[in-house]
Amino acid sequence: MQLKKDQLRLWDAGIAVAGLITARRRGFYMAAAKVTPLVAGNWKMNGLTASRGELTKMIAGAGVLASKIELMVCPPATLIAIFSDAAKGSAITIGAQDCDAAASGAHTGDISAEMLADAGARAVIVGHSERRSDHHETDAQVRAKAQAAWRVGLTAIVCVGEQRAEREAGKTLDVVGRQLDGSLPDGATAAKLVIAYEPVWAIGTGLTPTPANVAEVHAFIRQQLNTRFAGDGGTIRILYGGSVKPDNARELLTVAEVNGALVGGASLRADDFLGIAAVYR
Ligand code: PEP
Repeated sequence: MQLKKDQLRLWDAGIAVAGLITARRRGFYMAAAKVTPLVAGNWKMNGLTASRGELTKMIAGAGVLASKIELMVCPPATLIAIFSDAAKGSAITIGAQDCDAAASGAHTGDISAEMLADAGARAVIVGHSERRSDHHETDAQVRAKAQAAWRVGLTAIVCVGEQRAEREAGKTLDVVGRQLDGSLPDGATAAKLVIAYEPVWAIGTGLTPTPANVAEVHAFIRQQLNTRFAGDGGTIRILYGGSVKPDNARELLTVAEVNGALVGGASLRADDFLGIAAVYR
């Protein structure tokens, strides 16, 4: 049976209250570290050369946000070079959606981090749930991809998040903890790593967790990062992703320890993407 939005919210109510309290307590005892928020758009397998017009609109609207946040567009690999050229000198940086762990070689159809950097990308998403499910990518492979990104100076945006059944079974933090342990290489710094918490059931569905659910998971991720990467753990950005739209962006992005968003569908249109980023104006 499909779980409806309201049921999901009700089901989560107990955890939600605990999460909110935890976040409030953390806020009371420990001022949140200052980080520049990042709003990144994942265009997935969408976009042709004609989509450059949409990027141009984004560039035009991004200027007023430049001092407050970082804005990134991750188009399909075919558009990275022309988008990088178009975005040069603007407030928008260009990222990629995946990379192979190897630098070069006999891997037909794959693209290395070296190639992405050469085409102008500054970051690469690794371990997106669609890669984990469609291509059966493991945590170990995601970790190797993040290392490949670092090899050429790209920031790795590492995605983690639970399936709906895992949330219903109360295993969200176990799953996210295991993914972080397995997917993150040692030696992360705030410049090299961004985490995207994306509940799989919220991606492209219009469903979103409650702000308290988001607070609980983000506080947990922050704690894991602090433990693992002592000096930089407090400043590595943790993005929320999953059905972020202009009309729910404020509710989701103002939660404690949410340092921006990874946006799928709503990043394809400049008005929506900039509408989400406008939370930080
Ligand atoms: C995503 O795929 O990373 C994503 C967050 O998608 P959407 O915003 O469409 O849910």
